[in-house]
Amino acid sequence: MKAVLLKESNKVVVEELSVPQLDKGDILVEMKACGLCGTDIEKMHGQYTAARPVLGHEAAGIITAVGEDVDIFKVGDRVFPHHHTPCYNCHFCKHGSETMCSSFRTSNLDPCGFAEYFRVPAFNIQQGGVLKLPGSVGFEAASLIEPVSCCIRGLNRCGVSRGDSVLVVGAGPMGLMHLQLLKQLGAQVLISEINPVRIAYAEKMGAHQVYDAAKADVPSTVRKDTDGRGVDVALVAAGSSKTIVQALKSVRKGGTVCLFGVPVVGSVLDYDFSNIFNSEISIVSSYGSTERETKEALRMIEEHRIDTASLITRRFRLEEFEKAVETAMKGDSLKIVISP
Ligand SMILES: [Zn+2]
Ligand SMILES: [Zn+2]
Repeated sequence: MKAVLLKESNKVVVEELSVPQLDKGDILVEMKACGLCGTDIEKMHGQYTAARPVLGHEAAGIITAVGEDVDIFKVGDRVFPHHHTPCYNCHFCKHGSETMCSSFRTSNLDPCGFAEYFRVPAFNIQQGGVLKLPGSVGFEAASLIEPVSCCIRGLNRCGVSRGDSVLVVGAGPMGLMHLQLLKQLGAQVLISEINPVRIAYAEKMGAHQVYDAAKADVPSTVRKDTDGRGVDVALVAAGSSKTIVQALKSVRKGGTVCLFGVPVVGSVLDYDFSNIFNSEISIVSSYGSTERETKEALRMIEEHRIDTASLITRRFRLEEFEKAVETAMKGDSLKIVISP
């Protein structure tokens, strides 16, 4: 079977491997769709250090084999397997930091999500990480369960409520997923973006304001549009330190900045931190999601509350992986989905 592997010095190869062997309690999934994430690209560039660099974590597929003692799943089940699952039993899990659990980062799909077949370890299954897909949810739509679940957790963590003004910095696939979720929460959504193609997407998807950050001074324009206050929440769905500073300068006194996009390793802010105290700004980061959010994401996708079709703009096969990455890096597409 084919699998995309990250080798020494961050070289990516599509390799021929044997299909993984199952241990007791494992399942084997035939991948049908797997989304390409910005963090996959950061991993290829050695810029991502939050977890072991395994590529492909937004996968969905069909179970083709089950290990000994697996009774809740059978061959033929259509599933979304969460690549990371917490233990729900350690200090971190019991104190609401499930994605900081050491099991969370060590549990993973084997060899990865960008493979014709992958093994889902018994641990992920026991922790409720595998969800059965309703017949009405296609594999491509299901590949958005993981990214949507991360957005849901981020928004819960920063406590957005109806009527809040929210600036989303970055209108890539994640920024636009946030836009869709925020509109349903009844928030007023402002978007800041530099790429004209993505600016057009944000306008089409109904953002209340879209700022061209290449031309406008976003923080002062945001203030003008919020009675001089600044936004209640500024959510960074991009990776550069500049975008974090833009969010810090756009949020109101007492507001919250949510770090959702993954900052590149070694990022340093050019920002006077006394403002954080003087303006009582809260900084909340959000990493990953748990089964609470994956279930909620699946429900939202099933009920068409997320417009998955508008978010997926390009499709590639496993052997075209390199081309998919090049396309993603150009930034003119939204979500790219890989199929076998
Ligand atoms: Zn991701
Ligand atoms: Zn734990």
